[in-house]
Amino acid sequence: MAYDRENIFAKILRGEIPCNKVYEDDHALAFHDINPQSPTHVLVIPKGAYVSNDDFTAKASDAELTGFFRAVGHVARALGVAEPGYRMIANTGVHGGQEVPHFHVHICAGRVLGGMIRPAG
Ligand code: 5GP
Repeated sequence: MAYDRENIFAKILRGEIPCNKVYEDDHALAFHDINPQSPTHVLVIPKGAYVSNDDFTAKASDAELTGFFRAVGHVARALGVAEPGYRMIANTGVHGGQEVPHFHVHICAGRVLGGMIRPAG
C-alpha cells in the first residue's frame, strides 16, 4: 500500500491539523487520542512516511526504529503509566483494524484493561 500524504496523521505532522501534544523529538510525535478508549490514551507516531508496522519495520533505518521505540518507552514513563502498566497496540492493516494509514502505537493505560482481544462488531 502506498503512503497517503493526505492521511490525518500526516496533516498533524505538517501542523495542518492541531493535536494535544505530549512529546516530540527527531523521530517521534506523541499526542492524545481524540477518542480515548482508556483514562490515558496516547498515540505515538514516527515522523517518517510509513503506512504501518509492516512498512516501518521493513523500510525504516536503524536510527528511526531505535528512536521511535525509545520514544514510546519514554512517553509511557513520562505519562507515569510504566507502573502499574499499560498496553501498546499497533493495529496493522484491514484485519488488524487499522483506520489511519500512518504507523502509530497506542499507549492505553489508567485502569485494568482486561482481556487482550474483544469480539469484532
Ligand atoms: P487505528 O484504528 O488506526 O489503530 O487508530 C486510529 C486512532 O486515531 C483512533 O483511536 C482515533 O480515535 C484516532 N484519531 C483519528 N483521527 C484523529 C485526530 O484527528 N486526532 C487525534 N488526536 N486522534 C485521531
